[in-house]
Amino acid sequence: MLIFKKVTDLRRWIGNQTTPVGFAPTMGALHDGHLELVRMAKREGCLAVASIFVNPTQFNDPRDLEKYPRTVEKDTELLLSAHCDALFIPSVEEVYPPGENLRIELDFKHLDKVMEGKFRPGHFEGMATVVNRLLDIVRPHRLYMGQKDFQQLSVVRDMIHQLDLPVELVMCPTVRESDGLAMSSRNMRLTPEMRAAAPAIHQTLQWAKSALNNKRPIEDIQSEALSKLAANSLRPEYFEIVDGETLLNVGDHNESDFIVACTAAFAGEVRLIDNLVLK
Ligand code: AMP
Repeated sequence: MLIFKKVTDLRRWIGNQTTPVGFAPTMGALHDGHLELVRMAKREGCLAVASIFVNPTQFNDPRDLEKYPRTVEKDTELLLSAHCDALFIPSVEEVYPPGENLRIELDFKHLDKVMEGKFRPGHFEGMATVVNRLLDIVRPHRLYMGQKDFQQLSVVRDMIHQLDLPVELVMCPTVRESDGLAMSSRNMRLTPEMRAAAPAIHQTLQWAKSALNNKRPIEDIQSEALSKLAANSLRPEYFEIVDGETLLNVGDHNESDFIVACTAAFAGEVRLIDNLVLK
């Protein structure tokens, strides 16, 4: 695996490749969910390029940025084990050269305003900016991203469409721990007590799926889900049942053929998100 720190070096190497490039952008502190993006790119015949960049512009809370885990040596070993071909670890100045304004200011309509958008102002603008910048650097054929960040995928899909970018977005299913907790770099910050409480997030999503199948009114499912999370020592921010395409609330199970439940909850100091396709 080659490791690049400079945009020019990475671009030169990619320019000499004949195999299609599959790109998996990450913020590091890697786990099996990230590695699955790399493995999927390899399975689909791509040269796998991963990046590790803790993007300051997508953190609305400076303490969250400061506390974000950084484990580059271990990450490098994990990527090697997943047969990643190249790793890009740029500095902030490489990604955002001083004096250049690379900010993406697209109108995502409500896609970046609901759910995460409501609780993390500016997050999606920062995320879209860095993904667009990284796509411009790597110019991959395929972009591999996880279903774990369902709303992020919707915003990136819309950005690719609006900017007519020549890349195929591939969604990788959420990789979970054996007790159902979605893998996340933030999980390593959970206290033992909160680690024990956190699987209630996935359990509640599964409960919502069966409640929807049993035709329970959606409003009742949402409010009962919030109570279930709170009863398990979690502090939920939202539990929304939305159309998987538009991310707008669904009033009734007949209203859409693609229904997703999305939630965010604090486990102690750690904010976790997860989602499940209900229909
Ligand atoms: P992050 O490092 O959290 O910014 O995530 C980088 C990429 O990995 C994003 O496309 C995430 O959606 C994806 N990802 C994170 N956790 C998981 C998971 N548990 N399963 C699948 N993909 C994931």
